[in-house]
Amino acid sequence: MSENLCYVDAYARSIEARVVAVDPADPSLVVLDRTVAYPGGGGQPPDHGILLRGVDGHVWMVGGAKKDGDDIVHQLELGGGEPPAVGDVVSIDLDWARRHLLMRTHTALHALCGVVWRDHGAQVTGGNMEPGSGRMDFEFEHMSGDLVGSIEETVNRELAAARDVRVAVLPRAEAFAIPDLIRTKVDLLPPGIAEIRTIEIVGLDLQADGGTHVANTREVGSIRVTGYESKGRINKRIRIELVAPG
Ligand SMILES: [Zn+2]
Repeated sequence: MSENLCYVDAYARSIEARVVAVDPADPSLVVLDRTVAYPGGGGQPPDHGILLRGVDGHVWMVGGAKKDGDDIVHQLELGGGEPPAVGDVVSIDLDWARRHLLMRTHTALHALCGVVWRDHGAQVTGGNMEPGSGRMDFEFEHMSGDLVGSIEETVNRELAAARDVRVAVLPRAEAFAIPDLIRTKVDLLPPGIAEIRTIEIVGLDLQADGGTHVANTREVGSIRVTGYESKGRINKRIRIELVAPG
């Protein structure tokens, strides 16, 4: 099982680790005993970074990561070269500019969910993001340019309120007792999952979530709604991007 610091400390950007497996069929796929790389999921893409072998300074680009059972598999860009060997001591170092932008984007999308739910009672049905931009789909019957304009203003006010963002891991039964979590379809999680990780924007939003987030909403800066569209009678999509910090 790979230990992954990203779930407890989103600001961990590098760690020393040992190579525990190299896929014989595809040697670009490497498992470490521990990592800081987010393996993707919940609309947040996997991290990029580098793998450095201290003993000879060999560097591999990490183009992504994914979960395989309890392991985190790193996708290396070998470019025809050799992979590291099982037992090698390496350090993994994230592309931090990209990851931090994804953290800001992910927290911004949760703030959007929180505002749309609190002010309009609309549930989120899906979402996706790239570094710096993203979209969320809502069960939202009536939407207009005026409405998304006011949503943008409200989200920016909430972000500027410097709300803390907290990570918790709750026993399943406890998570089920929280009404806010029901709207994020916590009841759809597989029965085998004993613990549920939650992300709370204090006073605004609480969701079951596996992603990486900033510690306070002021770190997000502000957002701009770049579009909205109808995906059917009920489903509506809102697109946002981060406004570059001044
Ligand atoms: Zn999320």
